[in-house]
Amino acid sequence: MPRAVIGRLSLYLRELEAFERRGETTVSSSLLGSALGINDAQVRKDLACFGQFGRPGIGYRIAELIRALRQILGIDRDWPTAIIGVGNLGRALLRYRGFRNRGFHIVALFDNDPKKIGQTVGGLVVQPLERLGEVAEELGLRLAILTVPGEAAGRVAELAAGCGIRGLLNFAPVTLTVPEPLSVISVDLSIQLENLAYRVLHEPNGGEAITD
Ligand code: NAD
Repeated sequence: MPRAVIGRLSLYLRELEAFERRGETTVSSSLLGSALGINDAQVRKDLACFGQFGRPGIGYRIAELIRALRQILGIDRDWPTAIIGVGNLGRALLRYRGFRNRGFHIVALFDNDPKKIGQTVGGLVVQPLERLGEVAEELGLRLAILTVPGEAAGRVAELAAGCGIRGLLNFAPVTLTVPEPLSVISVDLSIQLENLAYRVLHEPNGGEAITD
């Protein structure tokens, strides 16, 4: 499945939840598309990849589509998640409540700084990275958020892969080459700002580009 389509599923879900909060029960592909700035054909094509959701003359039943998208995205369950690197960013992410609403529960913190190990942060005790394997098994950890400095990220990612972690959300400003079956998604806000600067300079009327 193209990654762009998977990315749009999360956006469809966010909009569908907003429609549901407003008391709507059905939505057309054109309304859903216009909420996201894309056309109705794209919406229909994306959703048709996963099943027959739309009904002629009715559109999409919102509750049904939300349930299906949550299942497809794998957020119909809880994901115990670790944060590795309990510095400024790690602590800020720990405080963010939005993860829990999506089923991502931060249940363990790891660092290698002796001064931080043993501290309680946000109700969790910071543990030495050497305990990752043991804790991962105990808590069923499969996801981790990586907020260590760039120079440590590669080593930590390899260690995480060897400890049963299957997905890393990497905030370190490096490209990680990791062994399968570890999946990595990297987030770099500086790159986003660079993209934004480019658009402001070269595409001033670009709007929000969500199809890339
Ligand atoms: P920080 O120095 O405050 O925190 C880093 C933490 O990682 C520290 O607690 C440190 O002890 C720990 N650490 C270092 N090596 C480790 C190792 N081998 N194992 C376990 N823990 C280790 O830094 P920060 O400001 O929180 O930034 C963290 C990372 O996130 C950096 O790589 C930074 O460049 C990056 N960052 C990315 C974005 C983004 O948009 N993606 C934004 C801000 C920061």
